[in-house]
Amino acid sequence: MATSFIPKRSIGLEGKEPPPPPEPKSAAGFIKKPKLGSGRARKREIPEGLWTKCPKCSTMIYDKELDDNLKVCPRCSHHFPIGARERIHALVETCSFEEMDPQLISVDILGFTGVAAYADKLESYQRSTGLKDAVVTGIGRIGPYRVGLGVMDFSFLGGSMGSVVGEKLTHLIESATDKGLGLVIVSTSGGARMYEGMFSLMQMAKTAAALAYHAQSRLPYISVLTHPTTAGVMASFATLGDLIIAEPGAMIGFAGPRVIKDTTQAELPPGFQTAEFLQERGLIDSIVSRKEMKERLIQYLGFLLHSQRHGIAAS
Ligand SMILES: [Zn+2]
Repeated sequence: MATSFIPKRSIGLEGKEPPPPPEPKSAAGFIKKPKLGSGRARKREIPEGLWTKCPKCSTMIYDKELDDNLKVCPRCSHHFPIGARERIHALVETCSFEEMDPQLISVDILGFTGVAAYADKLESYQRSTGLKDAVVTGIGRIGPYRVGLGVMDFSFLGGSMGSVVGEKLTHLIESATDKGLGLVIVSTSGGARMYEGMFSLMQMAKTAAALAYHAQSRLPYISVLTHPTTAGVMASFATLGDLIIAEPGAMIGFAGPRVIKDTTQAELPPGFQTAEFLQERGLIDSIVSRKEMKERLIQYLGFLLHSQRHGIAAS
């Protein structure tokens, strides 16, 4: 009892009392240690949500600095995930973005219940992300060019493509065709939304068909692939761009590497399914860092629209 009482008193009255009289050696050592330990622990306390550790270089980055840097690590340029609205803000001219279909929400048409009911999932993701679904679409100006812009958000159900994502993108593509505008779609997705079964798969054909009409009108479409872009989205509108560009280090593919490895029983080459790997093999035209994205899109749109006006084939 006596030993547990002494350290408490010495902490509480720190600095107000002269040092305690010398104790027997073993007891003195015991008293000092908890005092030092508790002081340090208090200083190390960092409020949660202020710092983020870079998964690539392990640097602790102040969240505000990360936000100001478009969620790119200032030391190693690792690209963190970024929300659809932040990305749109970084791409379009101020106040030029008119959102389309902001109220469109998914319906649980199959009454899907698994580990969690789809309806509950939708509600909780709408609350946590502030989005209605996994894509934000609208018409905005990038530099001097008015374009149809669609940006996906991975934080909403893994950026999965259900009926609403498909419908919003199709409506965007059709509007761009009608208005004679180029298109930029920034993808990030785990693929089709299993909670909507076949309705989700049909969105692949629907978006692809709308893009075919857009292409027939000789209007440019730039597809921007970000980490990760996979499965049904990769197998439809994401790979149909006149230009396909990607952010550095993005994981891009159809099935995941583990599935492919198990199916083919073959060792996968290093860097498999990264943007860099796919650029070397010709699927991706250019790798553009997030901080240069806007400038490069302006260049590419200028080039493609110029080609269109002069009858030069874009692809
Ligand atoms: Zn880093």
